[in-house]
Amino acid sequence: MKHRAAALALLALGCADARLPEGGGECRYRVRFSESQRAEVELHCEGPRLTGVTVNLPAATQHTRVWQGASELSAGSDDTFTLARPGRSISLRYQVELGALAARYDDFDVAKSQGGALISPAYNWLLTPAPLPAGLPVSVEVQVSEGAEFATGLAPAPVGGRQGYELLAQELPVASYSAFGRLSRRTLTLPGRGSGGARLEVVSLPEAPKRAPSASKHHGARKDRKPDEDETTAVASDTDYIDASPDESRRAARDAWVDGAARAVASFWEGFPVPRATLFVVPVAARRRALFGKVLPASGPGVVLLIGADSEADDLANDWILVHELFHLGVPSFSGEGKWLDEGLATYFEPLIRARSLGFSEHAAWGELAQGFERGTQALATTGLERTADYGAVYWGGALVCLLADMEIRRTSQGRLGLEDGLREVLRQGGHAREVWRVRDVARVVDAATRSRALSQLAARYGAGSAPVDLDEILGLLGVRRGAEGITLEPTGEAAWLRRVITYGSSAR
Ligand SMILES: [Zn+2]
Repeated sequence: MKHRAAALALLALGCADARLPEGGGECRYRVRFSESQRAEVELHCEGPRLTGVTVNLPAATQHTRVWQGASELSAGSDDTFTLARPGRSISLRYQVELGALAARYDDFDVAKSQGGALISPAYNWLLTPAPLPAGLPVSVEVQVSEGAEFATGLAPAPVGGRQGYELLAQELPVASYSAFGRLSRRTLTLPGRGSGGARLEVVSLPEAPKRAPSASKHHGARKDRKPDEDETTAVASDTDYIDASPDESRRAARDAWVDGAARAVASFWEGFPVPRATLFVVPVAARRRALFGKVLPASGPGVVLLIGADSEADDLANDWILVHELFHLGVPSFSGEGKWLDEGLATYFEPLIRARSLGFSEHAAWGELAQGFERGTQALATTGLERTADYGAVYWGGALVCLLADMEIRRTSQGRLGLEDGLREVLRQGGHAREVWRVRDVARVVDAATRSRALSQLAARYGAGSAPVDLDEILGLLGVRRGAEGITLEPTGEAAWLRRVITYGSSAR
């Protein structure tokens, strides 16, 4: 999934017009993460007149203290700390108790601490100036205590001759994942698009000490994973730990799985879709297989992946989550619309990417798709995908619309072109996850690149509008038959040709 807040924040700000405000200016953050897991920040802004700073996550307000000079400020009802001395040049200090937030929420979208490391999105410790100065450049310097590491999805840039990070003010409310403390990190070099290569920094948090069997479990809030499974989340308690050293073979299996997914996605996009991204791997004690993934694209893409610490190679071999998340990096974000297209594309192409590069069988890929599409048909026929409240329909109805577009493009081009060729053109024009596009602009570029009207027409019919679909008829055109025992695939003929060229790409003709 991609963070919905990103779209909302960018909508409010009109990011298409993110120019430097008149008169220039900048905001500088100097951040120090203490051993007690507190972010201590000095903020200095020049340029636009500011009246306050806003806590981006309301839950953090009571764990945030702000001073201007000797005055300690208190937050108003809208989570904004109003400055004692507003102006065009402001300096203040604040601190965010990330350790306390981690103890209270144990959630990587707020703060999560384990094994001497803490992960929290940068939006949680970068307060946003108010009124928000869209277009204002922001620089961030970070210090950690001795022996500790810092890793972030934020874009690196030199700040005052030292390594720092940069972003634009409108990205502050959705700034990407970051972690500090005991981290292990490695860099995966991947083929890039164009001349340069791409780098995926893989940052692993330590495993939490294993819990004793008596520790309790509870049902965690279901996160925004592809909605076909619920999760029981093991919650670490403060006690009941038994120590465990990380298992090298499991770590190697995890690394190999991450590398395979990244290379498969790079192959699909004809080069990894962004020059640089950071993947945070969070092992979850006493669990097997991949559990959850999410992208925060703003500033620089950061991806978080929860993975069972006990996962063996077999537990991960056929997992979809990481391919789905990394695929997202190559598609623009949308603002106030297009969730169905964003998630539909990732849901549709993920099994095809695994079939092309990761040994997923054609039969398994179409079995997964055929079963999933069923969840989207009702929304297509009734509300349309922009207005459905059914989360499964957003993903799978979106995926079905992507299939229909792909079939149309493949048929009219005799298999030479597919929906993916249109998406690669969107990416070539700069439409990656950090950028916000409109659905109609994505459709226009895809249609032009594939010499069709398929995506524009289907987006109008099933996104804004609604119309019934006959799933068996659609699958029949691909030689996929559904039965009580699962699916069967026609081995030869026109339908099998269309299915194969969709599954394996134009080279399968
Ligand atoms: Zn997704």
